[in-house]
This record gives sequence, C-alpha cells and structure tokens, in this order.
Amino acid sequence: MGNQNKYLVFGAPIIQEDEIAEVVQSLRSGWIGTGPKVKRFEDNFKKYKGASYAVALSSCTAALHLSLIAVGIQSGDEVITSAMTFCATINAIIHSGGTPVLADCSPITQCIDPDDIERKITPRTKAIIPVHFAGHACEMDEIMSLAHKYNLKVIEDCAHAIETTYKGIPVGNFGDFGCFSFYVTKNIITGEGGMVLTKDEENVDKIKMLALHGMDKDAWHRFSDEGYKHYDVVCSGFKYNMTDLQAAIGIHQLKKVDIYREKRKAIWDRYQSEFLKLGIHCPSKPPKFIKHAYHLYTVCIDSLNPSVSRDEFLVQMGGNGIGVGVHYRSIPTHIYYQKTYGWKPEDYPHSHKIGEQTVSLPLSPKLSDVDVERIISTVKDIL
Ligand SMILES: *Cc1c(COP(=O)(O)O)cnc(C)c1O
Repeated sequence: MGNQNKYLVFGAPIIQEDEIAEVVQSLRSGWIGTGPKVKRFEDNFKKYKGASYAVALSSCTAALHLSLIAVGIQSGDEVITSAMTFCATINAIIHSGGTPVLADCSPITQCIDPDDIERKITPRTKAIIPVHFAGHACEMDEIMSLAHKYNLKVIEDCAHAIETTYKGIPVGNFGDFGCFSFYVTKNIITGEGGMVLTKDEENVDKIKMLALHGMDKDAWHRFSDEGYKHYDVVCSGFKYNMTDLQAAIGIHQLKKVDIYREKRKAIWDRYQSEFLKLGIHCPSKPPKFIKHAYHLYTVCIDSLNPSVSRDEFLVQMGGNGIGVGVHYRSIPTHIYYQKTYGWKPEDYPHSHKIGEQTVSLPLSPKLSDVDVERIISTVKDIL
C-alpha cells in the first residue's frame, strides 16, 4: 500500500533525534552564530581525517574559493581541473580571478586523467584541482608528482569523498587544501556547510580572515565573554563562516559517517550484483589501495541498452516514483562556459560521453531493502 509507491527522494539524508536535540539546545542557549559547536565540529572532523587543521565554512564552494585565493591565484593564472565535475569547481576558479583549464577524465574511474593534466600545463598554470569523483580517489601519486615537477599548488575537491582514502591516507591531506561539502545530498550533511583542511597554521589564519570580511583573527572572538575588542580589516574578505546551528547537526552526523558508508556499500554491492548480470555499464571496482566513499552509484545508459535513451530512462524512473540524478553533463556542454572560454564538448570525449549517458541511482542510507529491490526491478523493467 501507499508506502510501495512513495516517491524516493534522491540523496535523502537521515536526521535523527540526536541532531534535533543538539539544534534545539543551540536555539535555547541563544548562541546560534559561530561558536563552540563549530569549534567542536572542526576538531572532530580534523581527527576523523587525520589532518593538522580544519576550518568550517558555509559551503564547499566557499572552501574552494578561499583556498584558491589563499594559494595566491591572480588574474591570468591558469587552474587545471576536470571536465567532469560540478559547476561549483569551475565557478570558484573564475571568482578567484583565475582562468579554468579543463582536462578530460578517465573513462573508467571518471576522475581527472593525470596525462591530460600534463598536456594542459603552460607557463601560466598555478594550480590543479583534482575532484575525487563519486567517492573514488584520483591518482594522487601521479598528480602530486606533476605538482612537484611543475611547482603547482593542489586543492582537492573532496565534496564526494568524506570517507575516501588513497594508499591509507585520507583524501584532502595530499594538497595544500582539501575542500569538503555537507550539502543535503552529501555523505554527511549540515543543511549547507563545508570544511577546508590544511597542513599549515598560516593557511588557517588566511582562511579565517577571508571567511569573515577580511577582519584580523581576533574578530572571531569579538562578541565573546572576554568583552568587546576592536578589530582591523586587513583585506577585502567574504562572509563564509559556519554557524553553530549547522555544526550541531554535523557533530552527530560525523559520528555515524562509517555506519552510513556501510549501508551505502551494501546497496552498491546489491546493485552491482544485479546490473552487471544485465550487461549494464556499471561503476568500476575500486583497486585495493582505495577506500571508496560510495557517494554516487552511476550507470551508463548506452548502446548496450538500445531500448531506451538516457533522457527517456530519467523520465521513466521519475514516473515510477524514483528520484534519480545526472552527475554531470560535462562542463563544456554549458552555454556560459562555451561562450566565455570557447570550449567544445567533443574536445573532452570521455567526459562528454559520460555526461550524455550517466544516471545516478538512489544510494541514500535511508533506503530500505524493499526500496532497493523496487529500484532494481524498475531499472530491469525499463531496460
Ligand atoms: C556539491 C559539490 C560542490 C559544492 O559543494 P557545496 O557545499 O554545495 O558548495 C563542489 N564540488 C563538487 C564535485 C560537488 O559535488
């Protein structure tokens, strides 16, 4: 009954009583801005990632933007990233004043191809943003050796990769900065929110200053119980701080991060066992040295499935009450970037092909076994 046909929202988060109680406690305390819970969330996240420093921000987009400014990107500097990413990665480069340059992705892992990065390096290249796509780690050995060879900064886009490790090291710790998202569909959530990791205390001061109007570092404490203090504005900054209301959710989400990953892994394995049999183009199995975050489960609707186009498949899934996603149409297919940079989708053939064929199936830890079986049988019916 009813339940059988309920609409399965794509990327639905689990929100439990502990998160609710923590938010209520913040509201009752009256401290709803940036305060002790943000500090606690930063400390816990830093520990979870084995990082030196963590600064909580309003989003991953903000984290990418400030990281680019902090590494010194200026007008005319080129920043190489993947043609297969979310537009936020590209927009952050543009807003830092830099020029985005695209490299194609691997058709297997869908992560940026280090050989294509090297082909795109020019005397103006200043930084690389690898995107750990769908929770699969990029080839960090190759990318870091390019960075050393050409003296480039590295900013990791870890929006899909909270739990990901590469050769035992949690991603976000390889580059100068690692940027994370707690947007509603991500592996843990704060509604909106982000975090940036760095190894260097000086970078922490830069990020905190840029995130709060360009005020010097004491400004973060100007309304504390130590009494009012004057602040100085030392650069023209932004307003990118996280609040205790968001951190209140994040603190409890983080405790459950590995439980949720196990649930998504079980769904992932169930999908693989059914869809490989059908001959659907499924995600690649991660190598032993990568711990995958299982953020997205994507299939390609291609010539192996001649009965239906990708877009028709999307419509039919929606019509059957199953929320699906497209991660992503490749960056050069978007009008603004074509007009501004003259990019052509065909010049990034792997990203373009994935962008035309990919569909993300629900992978939320909220899905019941019944939901998962319903998704599997709906996919089978449509194909
Ligand atoms: C979600 C996402 C972002 C942006 O994260 P926000 O927290 O929403 O700003 C950036 N890059 C990738 C790859 C993403 O998926």
